[in-house]
Amino acid sequence: MSRERLDPIRREFGERRLVLHYGDVTEAGRLTTLLSQIKPREVYHLAAQSHVRVSFDQPEYTNTVIAGGTLNVVTAVRALEQSLGVRVKIYNAGSSEMFGATAPPQSEGSAFHPRSPYGVSKLAAHWHAVNHRESYGMFIANGILFNHESPRRGEQFVTRKITRAVGRIVCGLQDRLRLGNLDSTRDWGFAGDYVEAMWKILQLDRAEDFVIATGTEYSVRDFLSAAFGSVDLRWQDYVDYDRALERPAEVDRLSGDASKAKRILGWEPATSFAQLVSMMVRHDIGLAKDEAALRSVSRSYGAAE
Ligand code: GDP
Repeated sequence: MSRERLDPIRREFGERRLVLHYGDVTEAGRLTTLLSQIKPREVYHLAAQSHVRVSFDQPEYTNTVIAGGTLNVVTAVRALEQSLGVRVKIYNAGSSEMFGATAPPQSEGSAFHPRSPYGVSKLAAHWHAVNHRESYGMFIANGILFNHESPRRGEQFVTRKITRAVGRIVCGLQDRLRLGNLDSTRDWGFAGDYVEAMWKILQLDRAEDFVIATGTEYSVRDFLSAAFGSVDLRWQDYVDYDRALERPAEVDRLSGDASKAKRILGWEPATSFAQLVSMMVRHDIGLAKDEAALRSVSRSYGAAE
């Protein structure tokens, strides 16, 4: 199980403040056992196979983890509530991918039209959450978050793939970058801002669903231009088109209307697109510098042997 993005956080905040337990949302029994040991009052359910392109290759696995996993979580929390006799609030991570082909601006009232097994599975999970809320009066809130990025983003997502490449190109570790469709637009926000919205959603007295977004819309090409431009490079000199990175069905445009979140939660994003891109590029130049230094040490060590 991969923990490389969690371990630095545990080191920073202390292992007593971030305790990890092994488990998998597809294992209903394990979930019930863990919940009865931990006895949480708030559950943030973020587990998923979250890569859209991969979901076309592994649709059944994606559906099992996302739709089946969510059903397991809400069922296990319901059992915990019954055994403890207290309310346990659930945040369920929805996704802007549920809107898919629906034109922007997408809000809580917009029609859903997912365009990938990932989006379809997230929509099934969304309705399991709503159905449990309506059937049993549970506090289950769906956050419909638009793309949220940070230096901790997985490297298979386009933003981080680009900023990692910029860092490595600046340090002479890479000279080409392969990408698929550059025309699609996304509403990219900073994950740190979005986590605050998730927490605010669970502090309400009544569970409600919220779109969390910046309301801005940039294309993959715009992201490339901002990232390469921030180090005075032209992306056109480095990027190759790779047809294999295209998806069988694409979500062309995403841009969310988060006015409900502003009105009820008092939430607004604090980080602009330009700040986000520059934060990620700066971080990844730092990583690439470390990588380059390590390479040169191991080269000189190899030469000395
Ligand atoms: P998504 O919105 O959750 O699918 O986030 P991604 O970061 O995976 O993809 C955002 C957009 O970038 C999509 O429209 C992709 O088709 C497009 N894209 C273009 N090239 C790539 C690539 O090499 N990797 C990924 N992940 N996306 C790419």
